[in-house]
Amino acid sequence: MRIEEDIKLGFKDVLIRPKRSLLKSRSQVELSRNFIFKYAKYSWSGIPIIASNMDTIGTFNMARVLSSFNLLTAINKYYSIKEWYIFIKKTSHKILNNIIVSTGISHDDFMKIKKIFSLSKDLNYLCIDVANGYSEHFVSFVNKVRDHFPDKIICAGNVVTGEMVEELILSGADIVKVGIGPGSVCTTRIKTGIGYPQLSAIIECADAAHGLKGQIISDGGCSVTGDIAKAFGGGSDFVMLGGMLAGHYECNGKIITTNNGKKFMLFYGMSSESAMNIHVGGVASYRSVEGKTVKLPFKGSVENTIYDILGGLRSTCTYVGAGNLKELTKRTTFIRVNEQENLVFDNKKDF
Ligand code: 5GP
Repeated sequence: MRIEEDIKLGFKDVLIRPKRSLLKSRSQVELSRNFIFKYAKYSWSGIPIIASNMDTIGTFNMARVLSSFNLLTAINKYYSIKEWYIFIKKTSHKILNNIIVSTGISHDDFMKIKKIFSLSKDLNYLCIDVANGYSEHFVSFVNKVRDHFPDKIICAGNVVTGEMVEELILSGADIVKVGIGPGSVCTTRIKTGIGYPQLSAIIECADAAHGLKGQIISDGGCSVTGDIAKAFGGGSDFVMLGGMLAGHYECNGKIITTNNGKKFMLFYGMSSESAMNIHVGGVASYRSVEGKTVKLPFKGSVENTIYDILGGLRSTCTYVGAGNLKELTKRTTFIRVNEQENLVFDNKKDF
């Protein structure tokens, strides 16, 4: 047994210090970035926020709306080839360009992504997604996928430490997805004791990735726009959102109307009992549930939430004098705060 003594930080442990700025208005801030990748021959321009590949969030409807803002959607892996075929037939190049195809690591998953990519030349992004990115089997799958798709933009995860980021990039990933345990409907930390405070994971993994000309996605743990700003400030190239985009019209979820007319929507983790009942017919006896199901107030179209997020990010950039997202990282100084200082945001009720 060994104990690492240095302090690891989550979003709630810091705030961003304001800095003198030459910017006159939030409208001067450019949130779009142009990315070139280590292996993929494609480049991508847009606002590097991604709807999570959870089956409730990463939907075709979500992609249609997010793409109009030039944001990415990681489409969940449960759509059939036929559903993909119908979607692609009636969908513009622009939307397909802003889509990430998600996959697991089985032989069937591999066969399926080969079919999906054969349907359109406009699909450029692939996300190889497992809860625990530390297995040798996963690393070999990343290698195999890179050999088969030399030109595509490959994301792989999830991990939380620099050495594993390096291994995945050297195995063929352009982008590594970072986060174990911070998700809003995740119970991994409770059930297993495994995890890593997300902001420190970002800082350490970004450093490892950038040294090899790779990039990272911070995945999970953003519950307010300030957390997204902190993820970019810490060096994340992309930020993936689940819970912040949940409860909207574009999500895949049942709307429940109560007797007094209030509307709610269910949102569940991909390792929750709800998800396992839907996708694999129940929880296998050898495993435990590592996600929960929550009921969220229905929020209407995701469009309003996106305006709110992008407005907040522009404001962060103005406070530190950053003209764009890359500059936000350079101009970020975190100050450590008592968690209570941060909770002030959450505790106030909207009215
Ligand atoms: P959020 O933005 O809601 O905080 O986090 C979303 C992320 O949580 C997802 O992109 C995914 O990585 C992770 N996640 C989703 N469902 C589960 C689950 O059931 N268990 C765990 N451990 N993580 C989950």
